[in-house]
Amino acid sequence: MDLFEYQGKQYFARYDIAVSAGGVALTVDEVVKQAELAQYPVVIKAQVQVGGRGKAGGIKLANNADEVRTHAGNILGMDIKGHVVKRVWVEHASDIAEEYYASFTLDRSAKRHLLMLSAQGGVEIEQVAVTDPTAIVKLYVNPIEGLSLETARRAVVDAQISQKAIDGVAAMLVKLYECFTKGDCDLAEINPLILKPNGEVHALDAKVTLDDNAAFRHPEWDEYRATEELDEREKLAREKNLQYIGLDGTVGIIANGAGLAMSTLDVVNQVGGKAANFLDIGGGANAELMTAALEVINSDTKVKSIFINIFGGITRGDEVAKGIVEAMKRVKLRAPIVIRLDGTNAIEGRAIIANAGIDESQLMSRSTMLEAARVAVDLAGKN
Ligand code: GDP
Ligand code: MN
Repeated sequence: MDLFEYQGKQYFARYDIAVSAGGVALTVDEVVKQAELAQYPVVIKAQVQVGGRGKAGGIKLANNADEVRTHAGNILGMDIKGHVVKRVWVEHASDIAEEYYASFTLDRSAKRHLLMLSAQGGVEIEQVAVTDPTAIVKLYVNPIEGLSLETARRAVVDAQISQKAIDGVAAMLVKLYECFTKGDCDLAEINPLILKPNGEVHALDAKVTLDDNAAFRHPEWDEYRATEELDEREKLAREKNLQYIGLDGTVGIIANGAGLAMSTLDVVNQVGGKAANFLDIGGGANAELMTAALEVINSDTKVKSIFINIFGGITRGDEVAKGIVEAMKRVKLRAPIVIRLDGTNAIEGRAIIANAGIDESQLMSRSTMLEAARVAVDLAGKN
């Protein structure tokens, strides 16, 4: 789950990371009220879950109530890369001497946490990576050992961050690592991490992605759910308890097991198609689950064909086939289904599908994943 900047800052504050106090506002009047509380000059910041708000005009400094009204009026309702601004964050403006970049992510292939640090902050890090890759220091952290202040300090020196900021940034990195690990983040990024003229180090922006798999030990995350921006398909999937992620393509995907679902996306891509979603129905592919899955996929108006990819292990092919046939009676589908059924009881399953009395143009079976993907992509192109 991605947090808004203001939520990220609240999350940082739990780990003693220095951020500015401020307030959220939904209307121009509320922005003025928050600005008065924060004291002028203030910065008004569009709260959308997309980067580059500054460049898009979504971040403005204001010195008095008139300026606040003008900027707040422009920012509220603004469209930033397809995200409409519904709320803004107002905080006392900080004086900036220097802008740095710091983030922690998980590098799965290295099996380590990854710190990225740069003295060139404030701009998009992807851009720095292209124009001046040596300006980004990468440090792999062994999750068992953690990050010591000494190691953090070495990274800061390597990144050629100003002498006067070294201690402050190193201390900040240790806190950010605490937040990243204890706080169960997939991403904890500060850009810019600023040095103020008075020598303080401060997080001016916050980008936090929480690891949904850790939600069970964070009851406090419930408040973030309330403002979470899901698209309609994802909302429906969440109601139905499905492991679903919406994508942009035209081939709806249902698979059992996350690994097979990922491979299914790859195969669709390989034969020239684009998946409309990721959907893992797990082990128990009964009629209820299949109906729920097909309802969610059917709600996606971009879907032109549906590729069901099942490898039966504990899941039995005949049960899956019965589930699909039953689900098709319950849901009036807008797109045809191509199914690849393999593994336990696949032969029985294919027989159930062939004898279900459903027109071949609406439900067709193919014996390999590649073949089925080709047919599904072909149908998506034609429809
Ligand atoms: P982003 O564009 O979405 O990454 O939004 P940021 O929160 O990173 O802000 C973008 C830029 O606005 C920063 O790099 C700063 O240069 C500027 N900015 C943001 N807050 C302040 C502030 O309190 N004071 C000053 N002087 N500039 C700010
Ligand atoms: Mn930023």
